[in-house]
Amino acid sequence: MPMTNVVTDNLSQVSGAHASAQRAKRRVVIIGGGFAGVAAARALKRADVEIVLIDRRNHHIFQPLLYQVATAVLAPAEIAAPLRQLEAKQKNLSVVLADVTGINLSTRTVEAIQPGLGIRKRAFDHLIVATGMRPSYFGHDEFAQHAPGLKSLNDAETIRTRILSAFELAEATEDEVERARQMTFVLVGAGPTGVELAASIAQMTAVTLRRNFRNIDPAKSRIILLDGGTRILPSFDETLAVRVARRLGKLGVEVKTGLKVEKVDEQGVVAGGERIASATVLWSAGVAASPVVKMLGTKTDRAGRALVGPYLEIGEASDVFVAGDASSMLQDGHPVPGVAQAAIQQGRFVGRLIARRIQERADGYPFRYRSKGNMAVVGKNFAILETNHLRTSGFLTWIVWALLHVLALPQLQNRFRVQTQWFWSYLTGQRSSRLITEAPRPAGPR
Ligand SMILES: Cc1cc2nc3c(=O)[nH]c(=O)nc-3n(C[C@H](O)[C@H](O)[C@H](O)COP(=O)(O)OP(=O)(O)OC[C@H]3O[C@@H](n4cnc5c(N)ncnc54)[C@H](O)[C@@H]3O)c2cc1C
Repeated sequence: MPMTNVVTDNLSQVSGAHASAQRAKRRVVIIGGGFAGVAAARALKRADVEIVLIDRRNHHIFQPLLYQVATAVLAPAEIAAPLRQLEAKQKNLSVVLADVTGINLSTRTVEAIQPGLGIRKRAFDHLIVATGMRPSYFGHDEFAQHAPGLKSLNDAETIRTRILSAFELAEATEDEVERARQMTFVLVGAGPTGVELAASIAQMTAVTLRRNFRNIDPAKSRIILLDGGTRILPSFDETLAVRVARRLGKLGVEVKTGLKVEKVDEQGVVAGGERIASATVLWSAGVAASPVVKMLGTKTDRAGRALVGPYLEIGEASDVFVAGDASSMLQDGHPVPGVAQAAIQQGRFVGRLIARRIQERADGYPFRYRSKGNMAVVGKNFAILETNHLRTSGFLTWIVWALLHVLALPQLQNRFRVQTQWFWSYLTGQRSSRLITEAPRPAGPR
């Protein structure tokens, strides 16, 4: 079938209430198989509904460990799980591999490009948009080709290839200036992802790559963490940020705050009027909501997230929800953070709410986010944890971080494999995934 054809699935040829009346069961369409989408689907496991989970990727990614794929500690498959496996565990669920390109609230249909089939339309009774965020370059999308962000497994592989290639080019060249440029790594954005990446690259240069080259000493690399704000880790308490800055200093990372990036090109970056020659610039400075939110035509915040009500519904249509990073909501005057726990809680909440509505029960209490605490890891043996009552850092916190992350991985086999890799890496300092894959896809916003 030609790609331009629009095909409507048999149940959606009649739209609205009439279509719904013709269906044996009400249909919930979930867009996005990330933390929020999967949690919503699971919460509907026992509901008498037909669930269609649409994602443009065939896998769910455990994003908190993406930085370890980018720095060769783990292989991509170790932090991902096929979405299709959900079908085996849940009879009322179908997974569709497709890229959503349109949402029509008046006909209550979702339009998506399905590989090999072209454009398909699906009707919904209840819609959950859980499409997350993408890197944002603050209006400078031209930076993207020189400074990949970290959001997908492709991005992680692109970054890993760039880092490992830089050492190969540094080893090969006889030009000292070029060698220094290849051995300079600039990370833009000192939130948790920037910090975790910087520390992991530092550890790699000091331990993993030691004595692996004849002409260069990887330990002499420069790793620079840049941020336009006044300090690193603004989402954590300042005392913890100070401890992390100290730790980064020990690992040899240069932290430069208060510097706005003005330019990124193939030679490096210009920040605060100063040019830093670097062959590897990585971006973790900003995020914007997925473009799918715009398709709802609803009110958004500055980052493009849908402004949702207390039940995570948008104002323009009933039973249309936005959950996870793509939604924006205030709680006690503070925004609900864009973290995995919040996405899981929101997805679960919407799933349960839909189940209640199908049984014609009252909605119950509105959504309330319950934080279990935030963590970040800074290389080997050091992590920080902040909860409502506790601020801690160091080796024991790192053990807790490792245990929690292994347990949170999506499949038993991931847990087993990650644990084994970490144990080996801890004992030997080696990283098992040091592959330079050919022709990395250019990264950038979609
Ligand atoms: C590098 C990194 C590190 C992080 N570390 C932590 C951490 O340590 N702790 C923590 O709590 N949080 C962390 N986060 C944040 C956390 O991962 C997010 O808050 C969480 O993933 C949000 O879940 P979500 O379901 O809203 O979106 P996502 O998990 O991003 O899922 C969105 C899904 O929507 C799909 N999608 C998007 N557009 C379309 C489309 N047009 N058609 C079909 N499908 C589409 C995507 O393929 C994806 O599967 C991290 C994030 C990143 C990027």
